[in-house]
Amino acid sequence: MKPQVEIYDTTLRDGSQGEGINFSLMDKLRIAEKLDAFGVHYIEGGWPGSNPKDLEFFAQARRRKWRSARIAAFSMTRRKGVAVEKDDLMRQILEAETPVVCIVGKTWLLHVTEVLRAKPDENLAMIGDTIRFLKDHGKTVIYDAEHSFDGFKDKPEYALATWQAAKNAGASCIVLCDTNGGCLPGEIARITALARSKLSAPIGIHTHNDCGVGVANAIAGLEAGATHVQGTINGYGERTGNCNLISVIPLLHFKLKKTGVPAKSLPKLKELSEFVDEIANVRHDPRQPWVGQTAFAHKGGMHVHAIGRASRSYEHIEPEAVGNFRRVLISDMSGRTNIVVKAKELGFKLTPEMPELKSITSRIKQLESEGCEYEAAEGSLALLIGKTLAHRELPFTVNAYHVSMRRDGKDNICEATVKVRVGDQQAHTVAEGDGPVNALDGALRSALGRFFPKLRRITLIDYKVRILDSATGTAAKTRVLIQSTDGKREWGTVGVSENIIEASLQALVDSMEYALLRK
Ligand SMILES: [Zn+2]
Repeated sequence: MKPQVEIYDTTLRDGSQGEGINFSLMDKLRIAEKLDAFGVHYIEGGWPGSNPKDLEFFAQARRRKWRSARIAAFSMTRRKGVAVEKDDLMRQILEAETPVVCIVGKTWLLHVTEVLRAKPDENLAMIGDTIRFLKDHGKTVIYDAEHSFDGFKDKPEYALATWQAAKNAGASCIVLCDTNGGCLPGEIARITALARSKLSAPIGIHTHNDCGVGVANAIAGLEAGATHVQGTINGYGERTGNCNLISVIPLLHFKLKKTGVPAKSLPKLKELSEFVDEIANVRHDPRQPWVGQTAFAHKGGMHVHAIGRASRSYEHIEPEAVGNFRRVLISDMSGRTNIVVKAKELGFKLTPEMPELKSITSRIKQLESEGCEYEAAEGSLALLIGKTLAHRELPFTVNAYHVSMRRDGKDNICEATVKVRVGDQQAHTVAEGDGPVNALDGALRSALGRFFPKLRRITLIDYKVRILDSATGTAAKTRVLIQSTDGKREWGTVGVSENIIEASLQALVDSMEYALLRK
């Protein structure tokens, strides 16, 4: 079934222009496969003329089977004064052998005369010749009209003439681009509606986030009748990035009620967003709308109370619909309801009538006043609740540890020894590391790994230290927050002490205990 709006992903081309984003050939192929499985309609793989890696991508892409997406190659209109069939750009784009090509051309008369130094009519011929040539070679041609909105605001008749030239030459979609990201939703809506009324061709929208309205501008275009939207996963792209498809996709489905990707893909939205960040080696933005860790996190006691009764009261959709989940944050602000809801979320049975609730609440308040913080440490919180409720025996105890550091020439060498007891057995191990905490982590892991092989899969992914103000006149305390993963889930744990190594050990021990106690 044909979607009402086509999703055109340019993560691999426009997205890779973002600072700090660099995809290998293998990365590009893995992302393309993920996007195809998710159900986007077009995947722009790169610009065949720009580098050998992009050409290699297209060579590999030809050999694979794509289920829902069509692969597109990007290029620009033929050069001024060169016959289209003689232009190297055209040879390169044909060599990519993609079913779809996307051609960018000039809309803004100022750019035509000042940058290209071409006559207005020559630019129209460049657009028409290029698209006709590619159509003659059997391609579906999408036309990206650069600076559409700025160009239209400056010289509306000329802008329209360029779009008309693309349409007449057979472009399947005229994509209006806010290339420098400076437009506002109102003008995007007005100009898109006008283009739609003047051209009998499908209209697309391509926006950038320079003013923080990249997604809003794309939505304005879609509400004004565009039926094709271009963007990138997580909004990667030049400067402040492109329009973020991770927001556009659920907006289309839940708010505009239009068909885009298959409905069954929406619960995989968070996974797609995290996957692409993972490949790009970018830390997932916790505040990213829809899919971020905090997107459905509730802190204020009153909110939490209301959420307990009707989740609709403070959430615009069900978190599960986009693969996310509700989180209740525990902090100074939280009442007992938070703890009941949190306990349930962590898999414990705790009701407001149970006497344990009072002792858990006061224990949390006590530890928080000593400097602990449970918002990012749900692993430690789960242990605290679990220990109070189940009076469980600890899976292991650390009887002794020792950390030392010395400098040998230019190298710092840290060494840690740890003694642990599990039941009536003991283990005593030593490890080196590039820092004291790293060494301690290594020693603890190898001591416990003998008894609990699943702990070998766990890795430490983040380590944060905060020095807490000391109001009591004693030595300042250190709070350590660590984030661990078993490859599937992440959890945080916390330790507080006047000694940074001791605080780190507490957080490490909590992390491993939590991994063992969790179902
Ligand atoms: Zn762009």
